[in-house]
Amino acid sequence: MRSTGSWYDVRDKEDGHVWKCRLKGKFKIRDLKVTNPIAVGDRVQYDIEDEVENTGIILDILPRDNYIIRQSVHKTAHSHLLAANVDQAVLIATLVFPRTSLGFIDRFLVTAESFRIPAVLIFNKQDLLNDEAKEFQQELMDLYESLGYRCLTTTAIDREGLDEFAQLLDGKISLLSGHSGVGKSSLVNAIAPDLDLRTQNVSTFANKGVHTTTFAEMFELGPDTYLIDSPGIKELGLADMQPSEISHYLPEMRERLNECRFHNCLHVNEPGCAVKDAVENGEIAISRFESYLSMLGNQDNRK
Ligand code: GDP
Ligand code: ZN
Repeated sequence: MRSTGSWYDVRDKEDGHVWKCRLKGKFKIRDLKVTNPIAVGDRVQYDIEDEVENTGIILDILPRDNYIIRQSVHKTAHSHLLAANVDQAVLIATLVFPRTSLGFIDRFLVTAESFRIPAVLIFNKQDLLNDEAKEFQQELMDLYESLGYRCLTTTAIDREGLDEFAQLLDGKISLLSGHSGVGKSSLVNAIAPDLDLRTQNVSTFANKGVHTTTFAEMFELGPDTYLIDSPGIKELGLADMQPSEISHYLPEMRERLNECRFHNCLHVNEPGCAVKDAVENGEIAISRFESYLSMLGNQDNRK
């Protein structure tokens, strides 16, 4: 559920009790080049060590369905394991106050695709949209739904769309992202008003105040329903990926890659590019292509 350096909060699947656990001995970090062996969302086997002290020992980490890693800021050769076994990544966006850019939304979707985590978009603050903004939003929702991303609209302060929001989270482990101010805590508090009582620190949920740790935390919303919050994944930045990889994570590009003349086509200036043809004849949205080019540019700058 949470880690604070070498201690891990392990919630027993059967009775829900939370034990303070340490890892047994030196843990082999297999395959992944990461600085931490275990993350929020990991399923583990553990033994109780001391009932009175409420401590335990983690014996094994079970195989992961997926995981999110992030390049460490300091040690470039190493990455940080942020979360594991995530059922969905949910982005809370707002078209006004603050405006979430399309580039940001697309980056989020591409990152989620790269980790093979289903992504959902929630457009909050419906009450603040004028007709023009509503029309633009509808176009966006049509676009993203056509690409396979579920979209929801909410107004946290009027409780609009909250049943759907709660339903979306029900029975799943969800990662919640979004710029500060879009209404993450308002939405979560609206569907789980007593969350702060159970977790004692909901104030950290939206990264308000000072985070004492850079580790992710998992909050129990209800039976089998969890939210993951982490300063590191607040804005789920673009993961470390090769320029040639990026187009694989935009579904409408992915399905056309085989039609490009060159197998290593980056869809920028190459002749016989099926992606650019699709942009030109309107089959691929210009905004998506622009986001792609921007991501490609950023990747190039880093090399
Ligand atoms: P967070 O930083 O994403 O957790 O955002 P907050 O939940 O703290 O919300 C930021 C501000 O937006 C607060 O003043 C909220 O009252 C306001 N807010 C949240 N949801 C809505 C909404 O649906 N409509 C309007 N008008 N304001 C909202
Ligand atoms: Zn191409």
